[in-house]
Amino acid sequence: MTAYSELMSFQRTTEALAQIAGRLGWDQETMMPRGAAAQRGDEMAAIEEVLHARRTDPRIADWLEKAVAVDPASHANLRKIRRAFERNIRVPPLLAAELARVTSVAQGVWAEARAKEDVGAFLPVLEQVVKLRREEGQALAQGGDVYDALLNDYEPGAKAADLAAMFGKLRPRLVALREAVLAAEPAPVLAGAFDEAGQLALSRELALAFGYDLDRGRIDKAVHPFSSGSGADVRITTRTNPVDPFNCFYSTIHEVGHAAYEQGIAPEHALTPVGQGVSMGVHESQSRIYENQIGRSRAFTGWLFGRMRDVFGDFGVSDEETFYRAVNRVHDGFIRTEADEVQYNLHVLLRFDLEQALMRGDLLVGDLEAAWNDRFLADFGFAVDKPSNGCLQDVHWSVGLFGYFPTYTLGNVYAGCLHQAMRAAIPDLDDDLARGDTSRATGWLRAAVQVHGGLHEPVDLIAGAVGFAPGEGPLLDYLEAKFGGLYGI
Ligand code: ZN
Repeated sequence: MTAYSELMSFQRTTEALAQIAGRLGWDQETMMPRGAAAQRGDEMAAIEEVLHARRTDPRIADWLEKAVAVDPASHANLRKIRRAFERNIRVPPLLAAELARVTSVAQGVWAEARAKEDVGAFLPVLEQVVKLRREEGQALAQGGDVYDALLNDYEPGAKAADLAAMFGKLRPRLVALREAVLAAEPAPVLAGAFDEAGQLALSRELALAFGYDLDRGRIDKAVHPFSSGSGADVRITTRTNPVDPFNCFYSTIHEVGHAAYEQGIAPEHALTPVGQGVSMGVHESQSRIYENQIGRSRAFTGWLFGRMRDVFGDFGVSDEETFYRAVNRVHDGFIRTEADEVQYNLHVLLRFDLEQALMRGDLLVGDLEAAWNDRFLADFGFAVDKPSNGCLQDVHWSVGLFGYFPTYTLGNVYAGCLHQAMRAAIPDLDDDLARGDTSRATGWLRAAVQVHGGLHEPVDLIAGAVGFAPGEGPLLDYLEAKFGGLYGI
């Protein structure tokens, strides 16, 4: 055996174990009996221990030294294995163990502090998480930028300074668009009865309409929608809300976007580093273009209106145009995950700026709530009323996910670029969407993005797909045109 084939044989087993660990996580959110929580913790810790040992196995260094790439896939696999190995051996084992311990405690503390609206109860453990992640970032950065080192776990090759420059151009136009939209006449809301069985049946129909392969996936209910797995087993979850069926439908379409990406990767890459979505930003570009640019388009919502009337009868909206406005309703809100297309990125940019300041030591944990509330007032024009609507609303920081938030907005920026290129390639796409047929859109995304898996670096992948250097322009143009039309501004 050559060094490359020995390395890949070892890697395939590691990848298979990682898939198993992921499936344990899926099970925990969907099927696991309540009384199994403590045992499941032990089971997860056991498999993580095995994974950590494999990911830092010294034989990897020998194989990497001798292995020779012969084609683009082996070249990309070696690049990814080398990057991950160097990352994993840079973090001292004691620090890794302490981070795992503190973040698992912090998640529980966060949940309780949020329930009690008590920021003070969360800050001491957040202080520990920030300190440990900063130490980890320093170990990874080796003299370079600490925040960039953390960001690269989620978005390989990205630099905070580049993102900040791009987001700096997004923010003022989004704030202006938000103000103009909210000054206009408000959009209608649905008024009807939306039974759970009907919501689940229609969400399944939507998943199929967006190309989700149920032979290699399944849909279950969970508290928070997510997708999990890659290759031949990619599962999604959804949830229902008796008064808001859009929550169910659009979170399903969103997760189908993530799942379709994993299902769309060329099968020969399965259980190799290339056989997974290349970054969180690219992943989010797929979920968001499915959900928004396609799923919330005028043409597609025309079809959805008819299907919803078939399933639920009358819900107080008489025509497709009014329905389109209801789907894309913009209204004040505190919560990122519930935000519309206009305001979503403003929520993310707030967190991006605050978490950079925390990591760089420019903002003390004790000043976080005040900084959050000041920034929220500046961008949204009204004050945070309670911590669960403010700095306690997202789980991310409690589990140490610093560097993750900007990938949400980067994903929207990429979705804007992909949408512009897709519309140019398929000028009559709306004819299909108006019949509920997304196959040419999802087929274009599959060929342009999904099939490549991790073969290319994220920016190169998007640039290759769209034919220009990705930037914020297409997203802003799309949002201003869409919501300008919807709100007559
Ligand atoms: Zn997502």
